[in-house]
Amino acid sequence: MKSTTPEAVRADATKWFQQHWDPELSLGRWWQLLADAGWAFPSWPEGCGGRALPTSATKAAIQARRDAGAFGPPNGVATFLAAPTIMHYGTEAQREKYLPQIVNGQDRWCQLFSEPGAGSDMAGLATRAIRDGDEWVVSGQKVWNSGAQWAKYGILIARTDPQQPKHRGITYFLIDMEQEGVDVRPLREMTGDAAFNEVFLNEARVAESDRLGDLGDGWRVAMTTLSHERDPDNAGLGETAAFGSVDLEVTVNDHLSDLESKVDGFSLALSGGVTMVLDDVTNQFDALDDPIKRQRMAKIMEMRRTSKWSGMRTAASLKSGGQPGPEVSMLKLLGAEMNRQIRDVGLETMGPHGMLYGEDAPTGGLFHAYAMFTPALSIAGGSDEVQRNIMGERVHGLPREPGEKEQRELPWSELPRS
Ligand SMILES: Cc1cc2nc3c(=O)[nH]c(=O)nc-3n(C[C@H](O)[C@H](O)[C@H](O)COP(=O)(O)OP(=O)(O)OC[C@H]3O[C@@H](n4cnc5c(N)ncnc54)[C@H](O)[C@@H]3O)c2cc1C
Repeated sequence: MKSTTPEAVRADATKWFQQHWDPELSLGRWWQLLADAGWAFPSWPEGCGGRALPTSATKAAIQARRDAGAFGPPNGVATFLAAPTIMHYGTEAQREKYLPQIVNGQDRWCQLFSEPGAGSDMAGLATRAIRDGDEWVVSGQKVWNSGAQWAKYGILIARTDPQQPKHRGITYFLIDMEQEGVDVRPLREMTGDAAFNEVFLNEARVAESDRLGDLGDGWRVAMTTLSHERDPDNAGLGETAAFGSVDLEVTVNDHLSDLESKVDGFSLALSGGVTMVLDDVTNQFDALDDPIKRQRMAKIMEMRRTSKWSGMRTAASLKSGGQPGPEVSMLKLLGAEMNRQIRDVGLETMGPHGMLYGEDAPTGGLFHAYAMFTPALSIAGGSDEVQRNIMGERVHGLPREPGEKEQRELPWSELPRS
């Protein structure tokens, strides 16, 4: 058996990247090579783009890739939400059907959870799935679905039994987005981008074999997805663009030049790439000469270290059998706060230039695109207030909100709706 010490893994990975990394390969070929070798997502199981490596060895493998200057694996809802949920709850057939095309970047996915009347109160969702032979017929409206316009598949939660209390009559499905009955309409954000969408489902079809988890157990499956979404150290959260269309035929070099011209605030925030842009800002404006700014930068670095502190991470995963538990809400809150601080220190450092927008602004407007996106980090994946409720109720055992217990017992069909 091969050694999995960080040193041995780093040496192994370094050798592999020296032999295989070539920016003139097509993007599709490169991602396939990475996945087949298990260097795409080193902590994931063998055959799923990984080598089942422990955390320290995974870090060593990722560092070896960075040192080689090699482009990272695919990124997006497919890798950081769909894959870990399918790995945990999927049948053998579902894993075989979906995971290979996720880890090689061929299929993009979206998340169909939120609805106009069910965001924070996601368990109140109204999209219905009705059984019809070997299929389910799905109708309803979803909203804020990031990347749905480029997605081949969606992770979907829908109500399968309105007579059950709201948390119990929900089922989780893997839906084909490229079918009649799925209408995706992009929404323009204040950043100027249109990364998320409304999705109208009008008698869309899902095979019974694409139900993920047990009938009526969709809430539990969705909580697993959300725990991964709130985990800043999610193994499927990569450094490459999370959203947008991807041409697998172009060379990695061409893909990279294309990315440079259209990187958005959403991808920058998700990939952590903003720290490099912040470095550009601090260098350009000599911010480190100012002791107060230096102090604030140190605070940001400390927050980043804390969010990766292994003691907290271990606590966050122990409660749910290796899956991130409710404690991960703390890390999500910390991430939102840290991004606000990066935004503020960056814009203040620029002085009057901080008020510009677009290509005229420092860093070609990249930092400003990120700054405009930062409020979204306190909303996406569950708002800050909701994370605090989760910490209070599920971690510290404080009483639930007044009336919530009664609501949890009533059939969904009898609940008042706005
Ligand atoms: C950039 C971005 C990307 C997103 N991508 C996706 C996606 O891909 N798929 C998807 O399904 N969804 C997505 N969402 C939606 C996101 O999950 C919801 O916006 C979020 O859960 C909040 O729901 P809401 O917008 O309906 O707000 P509401 O639930 O209406 O909340 C409004 C306000 O009330 C507060 N509030 C609500 N309930 C409570 C409470 N019990 N206690 C205290 N305060 C409360 C909230 O904190 C918030 O400030 C995305 C959102 C953003 C911003």
